[in-house]
Amino acid sequence: MVYVCAVTLVAPVVAQHKDTVRNVIQQIWMSAFVTMSRKEKMMSRIVEKEGYKKPIVNCVIMDLDGCIADDRRRRIHIPDWPKYYADILNDSVFPEQLFLWHRIQREVPIFIFTGRPEYLHNDTKEWLRIHGLEYAKMFMRPDKSKDATWKLKSEWLSFIQSNGVSPSLVYEDDPSCCSMFAGAGLVVHQVLRSAQ
Ligand SMILES: [Mg+2]
Repeated sequence: MVYVCAVTLVAPVVAQHKDTVRNVIQQIWMSAFVTMSRKEKMMSRIVEKEGYKKPIVNCVIMDLDGCIADDRRRRIHIPDWPKYYADILNDSVFPEQLFLWHRIQREVPIFIFTGRPEYLHNDTKEWLRIHGLEYAKMFMRPDKSKDATWKLKSEWLSFIQSNGVSPSLVYEDDPSCCSMFAGAGLVVHQVLRSAQ
């Protein structure tokens, strides 16, 4: 009722002064546009001043165990690796890392570098699917390999770099892997948690 009365009263006024109303609307629109342009100019000045290059991050490397997969109940089996990996499908997920992964996967490709042996590929793939974790490619330890995990990850890094992929950011919990990635010039976010 109030709405009908308001329209009945305002409509003739608007019709009588339609040119003025149109000018006012145009001025409001233009001022909003100019404000947006100023914001964009300000942002580009910041980018120029700080020396950022777009895109800042092209892709991200993620570790699994201890980083996003909660392996704490399995760690008692180390160094009995078959036992350590026996129950990976029932790992819970660290929610903070899940939060990050879901946001990162919307923006850039994720490469998984994991020390898990390749015979666990299907179980790992299923666990990732259950938690909605998307990725571009997953690198896993060859089943017979006894190499240190940092050495394998160094080789995978060289491999993707030689194929035109330029990762700049890593999420990793293993100190030796963190050192290797940092030494290779990548920014490492080391994931540290209490043992509980
Ligand atoms: Mg790990």
